[in-house]
Amino acid sequence: MKVFVVNCGSSSIKYQLFSMTNEDVLAKGVLERLGTNQATLHHRARGQSWKLAVQAANHTEGLRTILDVLVDAEKGVMSTIGEIEGVGHRAIHGGEEIRGTVRIDESVLEVIRRNAELAPLHNPPSLAGIEGAMAALPDVPHVAVFDTAFLSTLPPKAHRYAVPEQWYTEHHVRKYGFHGTSHRYVTLRTAELLGKGADQANLITAHLGNGCSMTAVAGGQAVDHSMGLTPLEGLVMGTRSGDIDPSVVLYMQSRGFSPADVDRVLNKQSGLLGVSGCSNDMRDLLGEAEGGNERADLALEMFVYRIAKYVGAYYTILPRCDAVVLTGGIGENSLPIRQRIVRSLARLGAELDDARNAATVKGRAGPITTDASALAVWVVPTNEELMIARDTRQMVRPL
Ligand code: AMP
Repeated sequence: MKVFVVNCGSSSIKYQLFSMTNEDVLAKGVLERLGTNQATLHHRARGQSWKLAVQAANHTEGLRTILDVLVDAEKGVMSTIGEIEGVGHRAIHGGEEIRGTVRIDESVLEVIRRNAELAPLHNPPSLAGIEGAMAALPDVPHVAVFDTAFLSTLPPKAHRYAVPEQWYTEHHVRKYGFHGTSHRYVTLRTAELLGKGADQANLITAHLGNGCSMTAVAGGQAVDHSMGLTPLEGLVMGTRSGDIDPSVVLYMQSRGFSPADVDRVLNKQSGLLGVSGCSNDMRDLLGEAEGGNERADLALEMFVYRIAKYVGAYYTILPRCDAVVLTGGIGENSLPIRQRIVRSLARLGAELDDARNAATVKGRAGPITTDASALAVWVVPTNEELMIARDTRQMVRPL
């Protein structure tokens, strides 16, 4: 059974084609600069890669181009697109209505449209991608896996803000959270690696990429999470500030910044980039800090310190903590940051195993703390596309 997984941004379409028999990726790629005359398709299949200049004015055309390549005699992996039995979409904001994976119909499209108000940067391109794929592949089921779904189990004491009730009832102001599919994948995978049922897993999962978030998981369910109404809340990220006093927003407006300026600065010019003044990329910052750049070093300290504070908070609210799980580009690859994180958790009994830290790279999963550690820290590579493919298979042809 073949499942096609699609993740649409405003000017890009990422895709993977899975054979679900062995969960093999038959082809994958990304179409970038959609809607410009420089649209480019980076495609990988059969152990080869291609960079192709393509015509793609919108998501429908982009998806048709990708499907043509997937059935191409040289670059393709199928003889006809009829081999695709289901399409899985990464969807972002499902509000309070959507609490799990759903088959897409008009009511689901309406939920995505309605929640565009809360996720103006993410829901419109995701909707365009879904509608484009439904037009290009009208005869197969389309399934949506929402970023917010895994986090819909947060209890009111965790998801509500201490603001007047009407802000919640009339304006839907609450914590929704994001990266849920990644947190769900690593929760399930870590439970498997620990030899536990998923409903027995008590974890603190940290997705550390350009965007960063943490989730407290009790009995396999999310009970708290660091991102909020939008992805801005929580950890220090590549270009987002994470937690700040909300009065900073009003204060900067009183100093002449428009609401749009403040929004741009907090989302795109803050975090590691804002503090260091040089980069949002962890590799650059580690190099700069090593070379004596004090601002870069402070950005790294703040990044790790904020993570340690959230671990402390989540450790306190969980009945037990089987492991802190690191994932995402930084969690999976950055040995020095993992070392700093484990050191920052010494008070909770985490003790780094240098050899394990060095060996747990290139997609490997495992603990990076010693067996004697009172708190285990694991690295578990995420795979949101596989999670979406599995959900799609389950929805289309239940096992
Ligand atoms: P993501 O958004 O998950 O792709 O993660 C992007 C972040 O991961 C960037 O800050 C990268 O610098 C960081 N990253 C990726 N690979 C490495 C690596 N080998 N060492 C350190 N950081 C890395």
